[in-house]
Amino acid sequence: MRAYDIIKKKRDGLKLNQAEIAAIIKGFVDNTVPDYQMAAFLMAVYFRGMDEEETYWLTECMRTSGDVIDLKGIEGFTVDKHSTGGVGDKTSLVLGPVLAALGLKVAKMSGRGLGHTGGTIDKLEAIKGFSCELSTPEFIKAVNTTGVVIVGQTGNLVPADKKIYALRDVTATVDSIPLIAASIMSKKLAVANKGLVLDVKVGSGAFMKSLDDARELARLMVKIGKQAGRKVTAVISNMDEPLGEMIGNSVEVIEAIETLRNKGPESFATLIKALAAQALALASDLSHEAAEAKVSEVLENGQAYKKLLEMVKIQGGDVSMIEDYRKLPAAEKTVELKADKAGYISQIHCEEIGLAAMMLGAGRETKESKIDMGVGLKLIKHVGDQVKAGDVIAELYVNPKRDNDKAVDRLRAAITISPQHVTPQKLILDIIS
Ligand code: URA
Repeated sequence: MRAYDIIKKKRDGLKLNQAEIAAIIKGFVDNTVPDYQMAAFLMAVYFRGMDEEETYWLTECMRTSGDVIDLKGIEGFTVDKHSTGGVGDKTSLVLGPVLAALGLKVAKMSGRGLGHTGGTIDKLEAIKGFSCELSTPEFIKAVNTTGVVIVGQTGNLVPADKKIYALRDVTATVDSIPLIAASIMSKKLAVANKGLVLDVKVGSGAFMKSLDDARELARLMVKIGKQAGRKVTAVISNMDEPLGEMIGNSVEVIEAIETLRNKGPESFATLIKALAAQALALASDLSHEAAEAKVSEVLENGQAYKKLLEMVKIQGGDVSMIEDYRKLPAAEKTVELKADKAGYISQIHCEEIGLAAMMLGAGRETKESKIDMGVGLKLIKHVGDQVKAGDVIAELYVNPKRDNDKAVDRLRAAITISPQHVTPQKLILDIIS
């Protein structure tokens, strides 16, 4: 089967069969299909799309392009969550312990951050001694003991996605719904969790800019997951401003601890409750409302917080840093960002906020950059809040030796104050199951 013919068929808007999709993906992974043919194929998919069946086959071919992890040694209902990305997204740090407190098993593999997005593994490394590198037997044993473990990705998981994503990134073919769905679901389905909760973000800080597109992506991913025999649900949430108040590493760990102590920001707790209730509903026959009541219970009675302590302990971390988070790495100085006029906060540009935090040292500019764990920022005012000139709208936690002034300027430019009141959007926009 020639790559040329497969590209031509898709270019002409015809449906590909399973063998054709397998041939082009396999050929690309084993280097018999060159970059320029794959780039042409991706562009043809970008313009012509793929139907549900084609997208499922694409996902399957990508999923099986490398190692698959069976999680066979783990007793109970294993569940994973995936977020389509964002700024200030410390969801895994809170959701994992909450789900473990509810009796589910969370064997989570997470990534590191690059550019404006932070990575869960980087945040956890703010805790002294915390190890994200466990052998497979250690990993399985730890999940069976505590119910929740978060490690870095190991092995050769979905090499097709790594190669294809790198090409999409430079050929303007990232924002294609079938390509995004196959990319995300191939990685999620490569690990044999029984349940999966998808956190699909929509808004200025997300891949999906409109609610209709987010719904289409969510429906497609849920369908692919179900076809693969998994229980899947998707929560569509607003990403027009960063999640919660803190952006950084230590500071996000602190916000996660506070949320697990049931004292975190309300918006973040709302998302956690929605995602956890959906996960619990997958594992049981509880209604969303009944499941959400159980989630509130483990947050209120301290069981979810206790699971965080257990997870940190089993992964070698210094538990005293959780019990007294003033021991976490901290920045030397706090700089206040004040409103230069009166009005209402009308927009907080997510990506720019992430980039301002990166300039302070909280994120990586290149893969080799070293993260400064203590720096970061706190958004004190949110979309819809009224401000007077001189009110503090954000705090920056900084260390000397960096160009912090540029980060302050970037942060200021990312927050718009308007004379008219703006009503903030709802956080949870839809649930697709
Ligand atoms: N996240 C992914 O993993 N893949 C995409 O294509 C988009 C977002």
